[in-house]
Amino acid sequence: MTTAKSERTHICLFGRTNVGKSSILNLIAKQDVSIVSEIAGTTTDVVEKVMELAPIGAVVIVDTAGIDDTSELGSERKRKTELIYRKCDFAVLIVEPNKWTEYEENVIVQLNHFDIKFAILINKIDLQQPSIEFIGKMHSIANGYVMQISATTTVSTDLINQLTTTISKLLPDLADDTNMLAGLIAPNDTVLFVTPIDTGAPKGRMILPQVQALRAVLDINAIAIFVQVAEYQQTLRLLHTPPKIVVTDSQVINEVVELSPPEQLLTTFSILLARLKGDFAVEARSAYILKDIKKDAKILIAEACSHHQQKDDIAKVKFPKLLEKYCGFMPQIDYCNGRDFPANIADYNLIIHCGACMLTRTEKLNRVRIATDAGVPLTNFGMALSFLNGHYDRVLEPFTNELE
Ligand code: SF4
Repeated sequence: MTTAKSERTHICLFGRTNVGKSSILNLIAKQDVSIVSEIAGTTTDVVEKVMELAPIGAVVIVDTAGIDDTSELGSERKRKTELIYRKCDFAVLIVEPNKWTEYEENVIVQLNHFDIKFAILINKIDLQQPSIEFIGKMHSIANGYVMQISATTTVSTDLINQLTTTISKLLPDLADDTNMLAGLIAPNDTVLFVTPIDTGAPKGRMILPQVQALRAVLDINAIAIFVQVAEYQQTLRLLHTPPKIVVTDSQVINEVVELSPPEQLLTTFSILLARLKGDFAVEARSAYILKDIKKDAKILIAEACSHHQQKDDIAKVKFPKLLEKYCGFMPQIDYCNGRDFPANIADYNLIIHCGACMLTRTEKLNRVRIATDAGVPLTNFGMALSFLNGHYDRVLEPFTNELE
């Protein structure tokens, strides 16, 4: 199984049409991923190359469509490029020697706005040498992170070395924030996972957060046990030492809490995912808004992908029922699915977001930022489900120090 895109570092190549983005992507990937052509605007859509880039690890190199494009599809391409800023972990702004336009200015404004680390790559130096003044200007804009190459003559490994050295310097913590159980368990600890295999479970496989949790345990040299609710109590009895932590699917939180001794540390997959992917403190705090939901409140339930609706769908069936039961009335609930966040975010009193397994951490954090900027609290499915079921303190207990 290859690393999911949502777990890969997204390196995005920005640059005016025909500045050489596709050639540079090909140079990094060492193969013809994009169509390279002298006709402006040949890359008609975003091209992504999934690869391992040692020592950075699993990455996606994204060749953005030129947002200065004026062809018929230009506005759609512009929209897509802007969405890319939201998932970009590291940006490379590709420029030509001695040419700095409104386009580059705009990219820098956006990169600073989204707080994206970046380097400037001066391409085509075989055709024209950049002036001292131009190089100085680039260094001052990119804080010294400037590369000079010619996509036609530079050796691939030289570019990759320059790129990975720069990324390692600018994103030194990249490898540290990918273990969802970091800080919660130590080698030889046991983690007991409760994962119902109901009609909603995919046939013959585990879902991504479960696989990630298993890998997280193995990476820490700890012990993982997976059971369904029916076998949970029996497993607790069989273990000589209680598990260090129990991690359950949020949907069976009531049963698991009921069957667990009061001193047993437990939490949910969604909460671990929120800690890995989101702004944990903001999302944890936001769930308390549920206490004060008024009759005219508007709640947005956001799912980051469009999936087939299940019979007992969490978003469309479980949340409405639980919210009505908890509030004593039915608040207005709107839904959004997929990569776009609605433009009228500020109209909502609360956003309840899914675990965002399809989004990168950067993308999810950008959603939290957009909501925070609009003054709207954003929590996630796992936290909201635990809150509405009355188990919020219990599932946050493992993180007391962190949240303080
Ligand atoms: S709705 Fe969210 S958590 Fe569920 S599969 Fe889609 S992205 Fe993942």
